Amino acid sequence: MSVSNSESVEDRNGILEEDDHMRGMERIGMEVVSITYPFASVARVTGRIAPQDPAPWSPPNQAVRIAVEEPPGQRPVVRVYTIRAFDPVTSQIEIDFVLHEDDSPAMRWLKAARPGTILPMIGPRQHFIPQPSGDRKAAIFADETAIPAVYAILKAWPQGLIGEAWIETPDPAAFAELPQPEGVTLHLIARPAGVGAGTTQSLLAAAKALPQPQDWTVWAAGERVEMRDLRNHLRSQGVTRDAMQVLGYWKKGMSSSDLDRARLAEYEALRAQGLTIEDLGDVDLPV
Ligand SMILES: Cc1cc2nc3c(=O)[nH]c(=O)nc-3n(C[C@H](O)[C@H](O)[C@H](O)COP(=O)(O)OP(=O)(O)OC[C@H]3O[C@@H](n4cnc5c(N)ncnc54)[C@H](O)[C@@H]3O)c2cc1C
Repeated sequence: MSVSNSESVEDRNGILEEDDHMRGMERIGMEVVSITYPFASVARVTGRIAPQDPAPWSPPNQAVRIAVEEPPGQRPVVRVYTIRAFDPVTSQIEIDFVLHEDDSPAMRWLKAARPGTILPMIGPRQHFIPQPSGDRKAAIFADETAIPAVYAILKAWPQGLIGEAWIETPDPAAFAELPQPEGVTLHLIARPAGVGAGTTQSLLAAAKALPQPQDWTVWAAGERVEMRDLRNHLRSQGVTRDAMQVLGYWKKGMSSSDLDRARLAEYEALRAQGLTIEDLGDVDLPV
């Protein structure tokens, strides 16, 4: 008798398969080519995909849902990661997994993966790309899980846009690898050894120190509770909804499967009111 995998999120009404959710994403398999450890805190997985059309994979900051466990008779256990880089010539993608100590589905997948392993995924889903907008500057607040997104964003930085990014990581080498486009100032917030991820509130502190917040377009991603506080602070300082995108990439002490259950319940409620996935406010979820 097979044991039920509690990390599998049930989608009773099949809502995640509908067009509103899929939005042109494809189901695809990535064949692992190599796994390297460029820094102590990161496993870099390079894999080959054969997309129907490479064009949607090319813009920066795309996310994919990867199936890290496939329990028989249940939906796969999925986790969201960023395409750090895509090479349309070789059809290879890079995903950086931040290593953490929990015995979690993504970490288990990583330990077992070898060149040749096939990783099923759904994607790509486009996330934030900074756009010049009048005199507005771009402010980025990111923890280590969002460094792959920041890397992709900086590589494609629009000419003439002024920006500043605050990055918290325990691993200064991961920060040092970021591109430095003209007009962008990068700030390293180094987390000391032994201090846990999601405990410092350093990105919130950086956001609180942002001069004249209403002059900026903001993108922030990191631990969920800190991100909600950061969003609330900037809102209270006059940053409007359309000038700010804040995402909880993970929650301290909670599995992403539980976050996904909350997301699905909220999404079902929105669809019942005739709304769409665009109306799903990430950090507003009641988790
Ligand atoms: C759009 C998007 C893009 C993302 N891109 C990336 C990416 O490119 N690289 C990346 O590494 N992550 C990325 N993440 C975050 C990643 O999905 C989560 O860290 C996820 O929880 C990892 O799954 P898991 O199975 O290891 O842990 P889970 O089963 O989800 O959680 C188990 C436990 O581990 C803890 N935990 C999870 N992640 C961390 C962490 N980084 N540090 C410390 N504790 C942790 C949780 O708090 C929980 O207690 C992204 C998330 C989103 C939403």
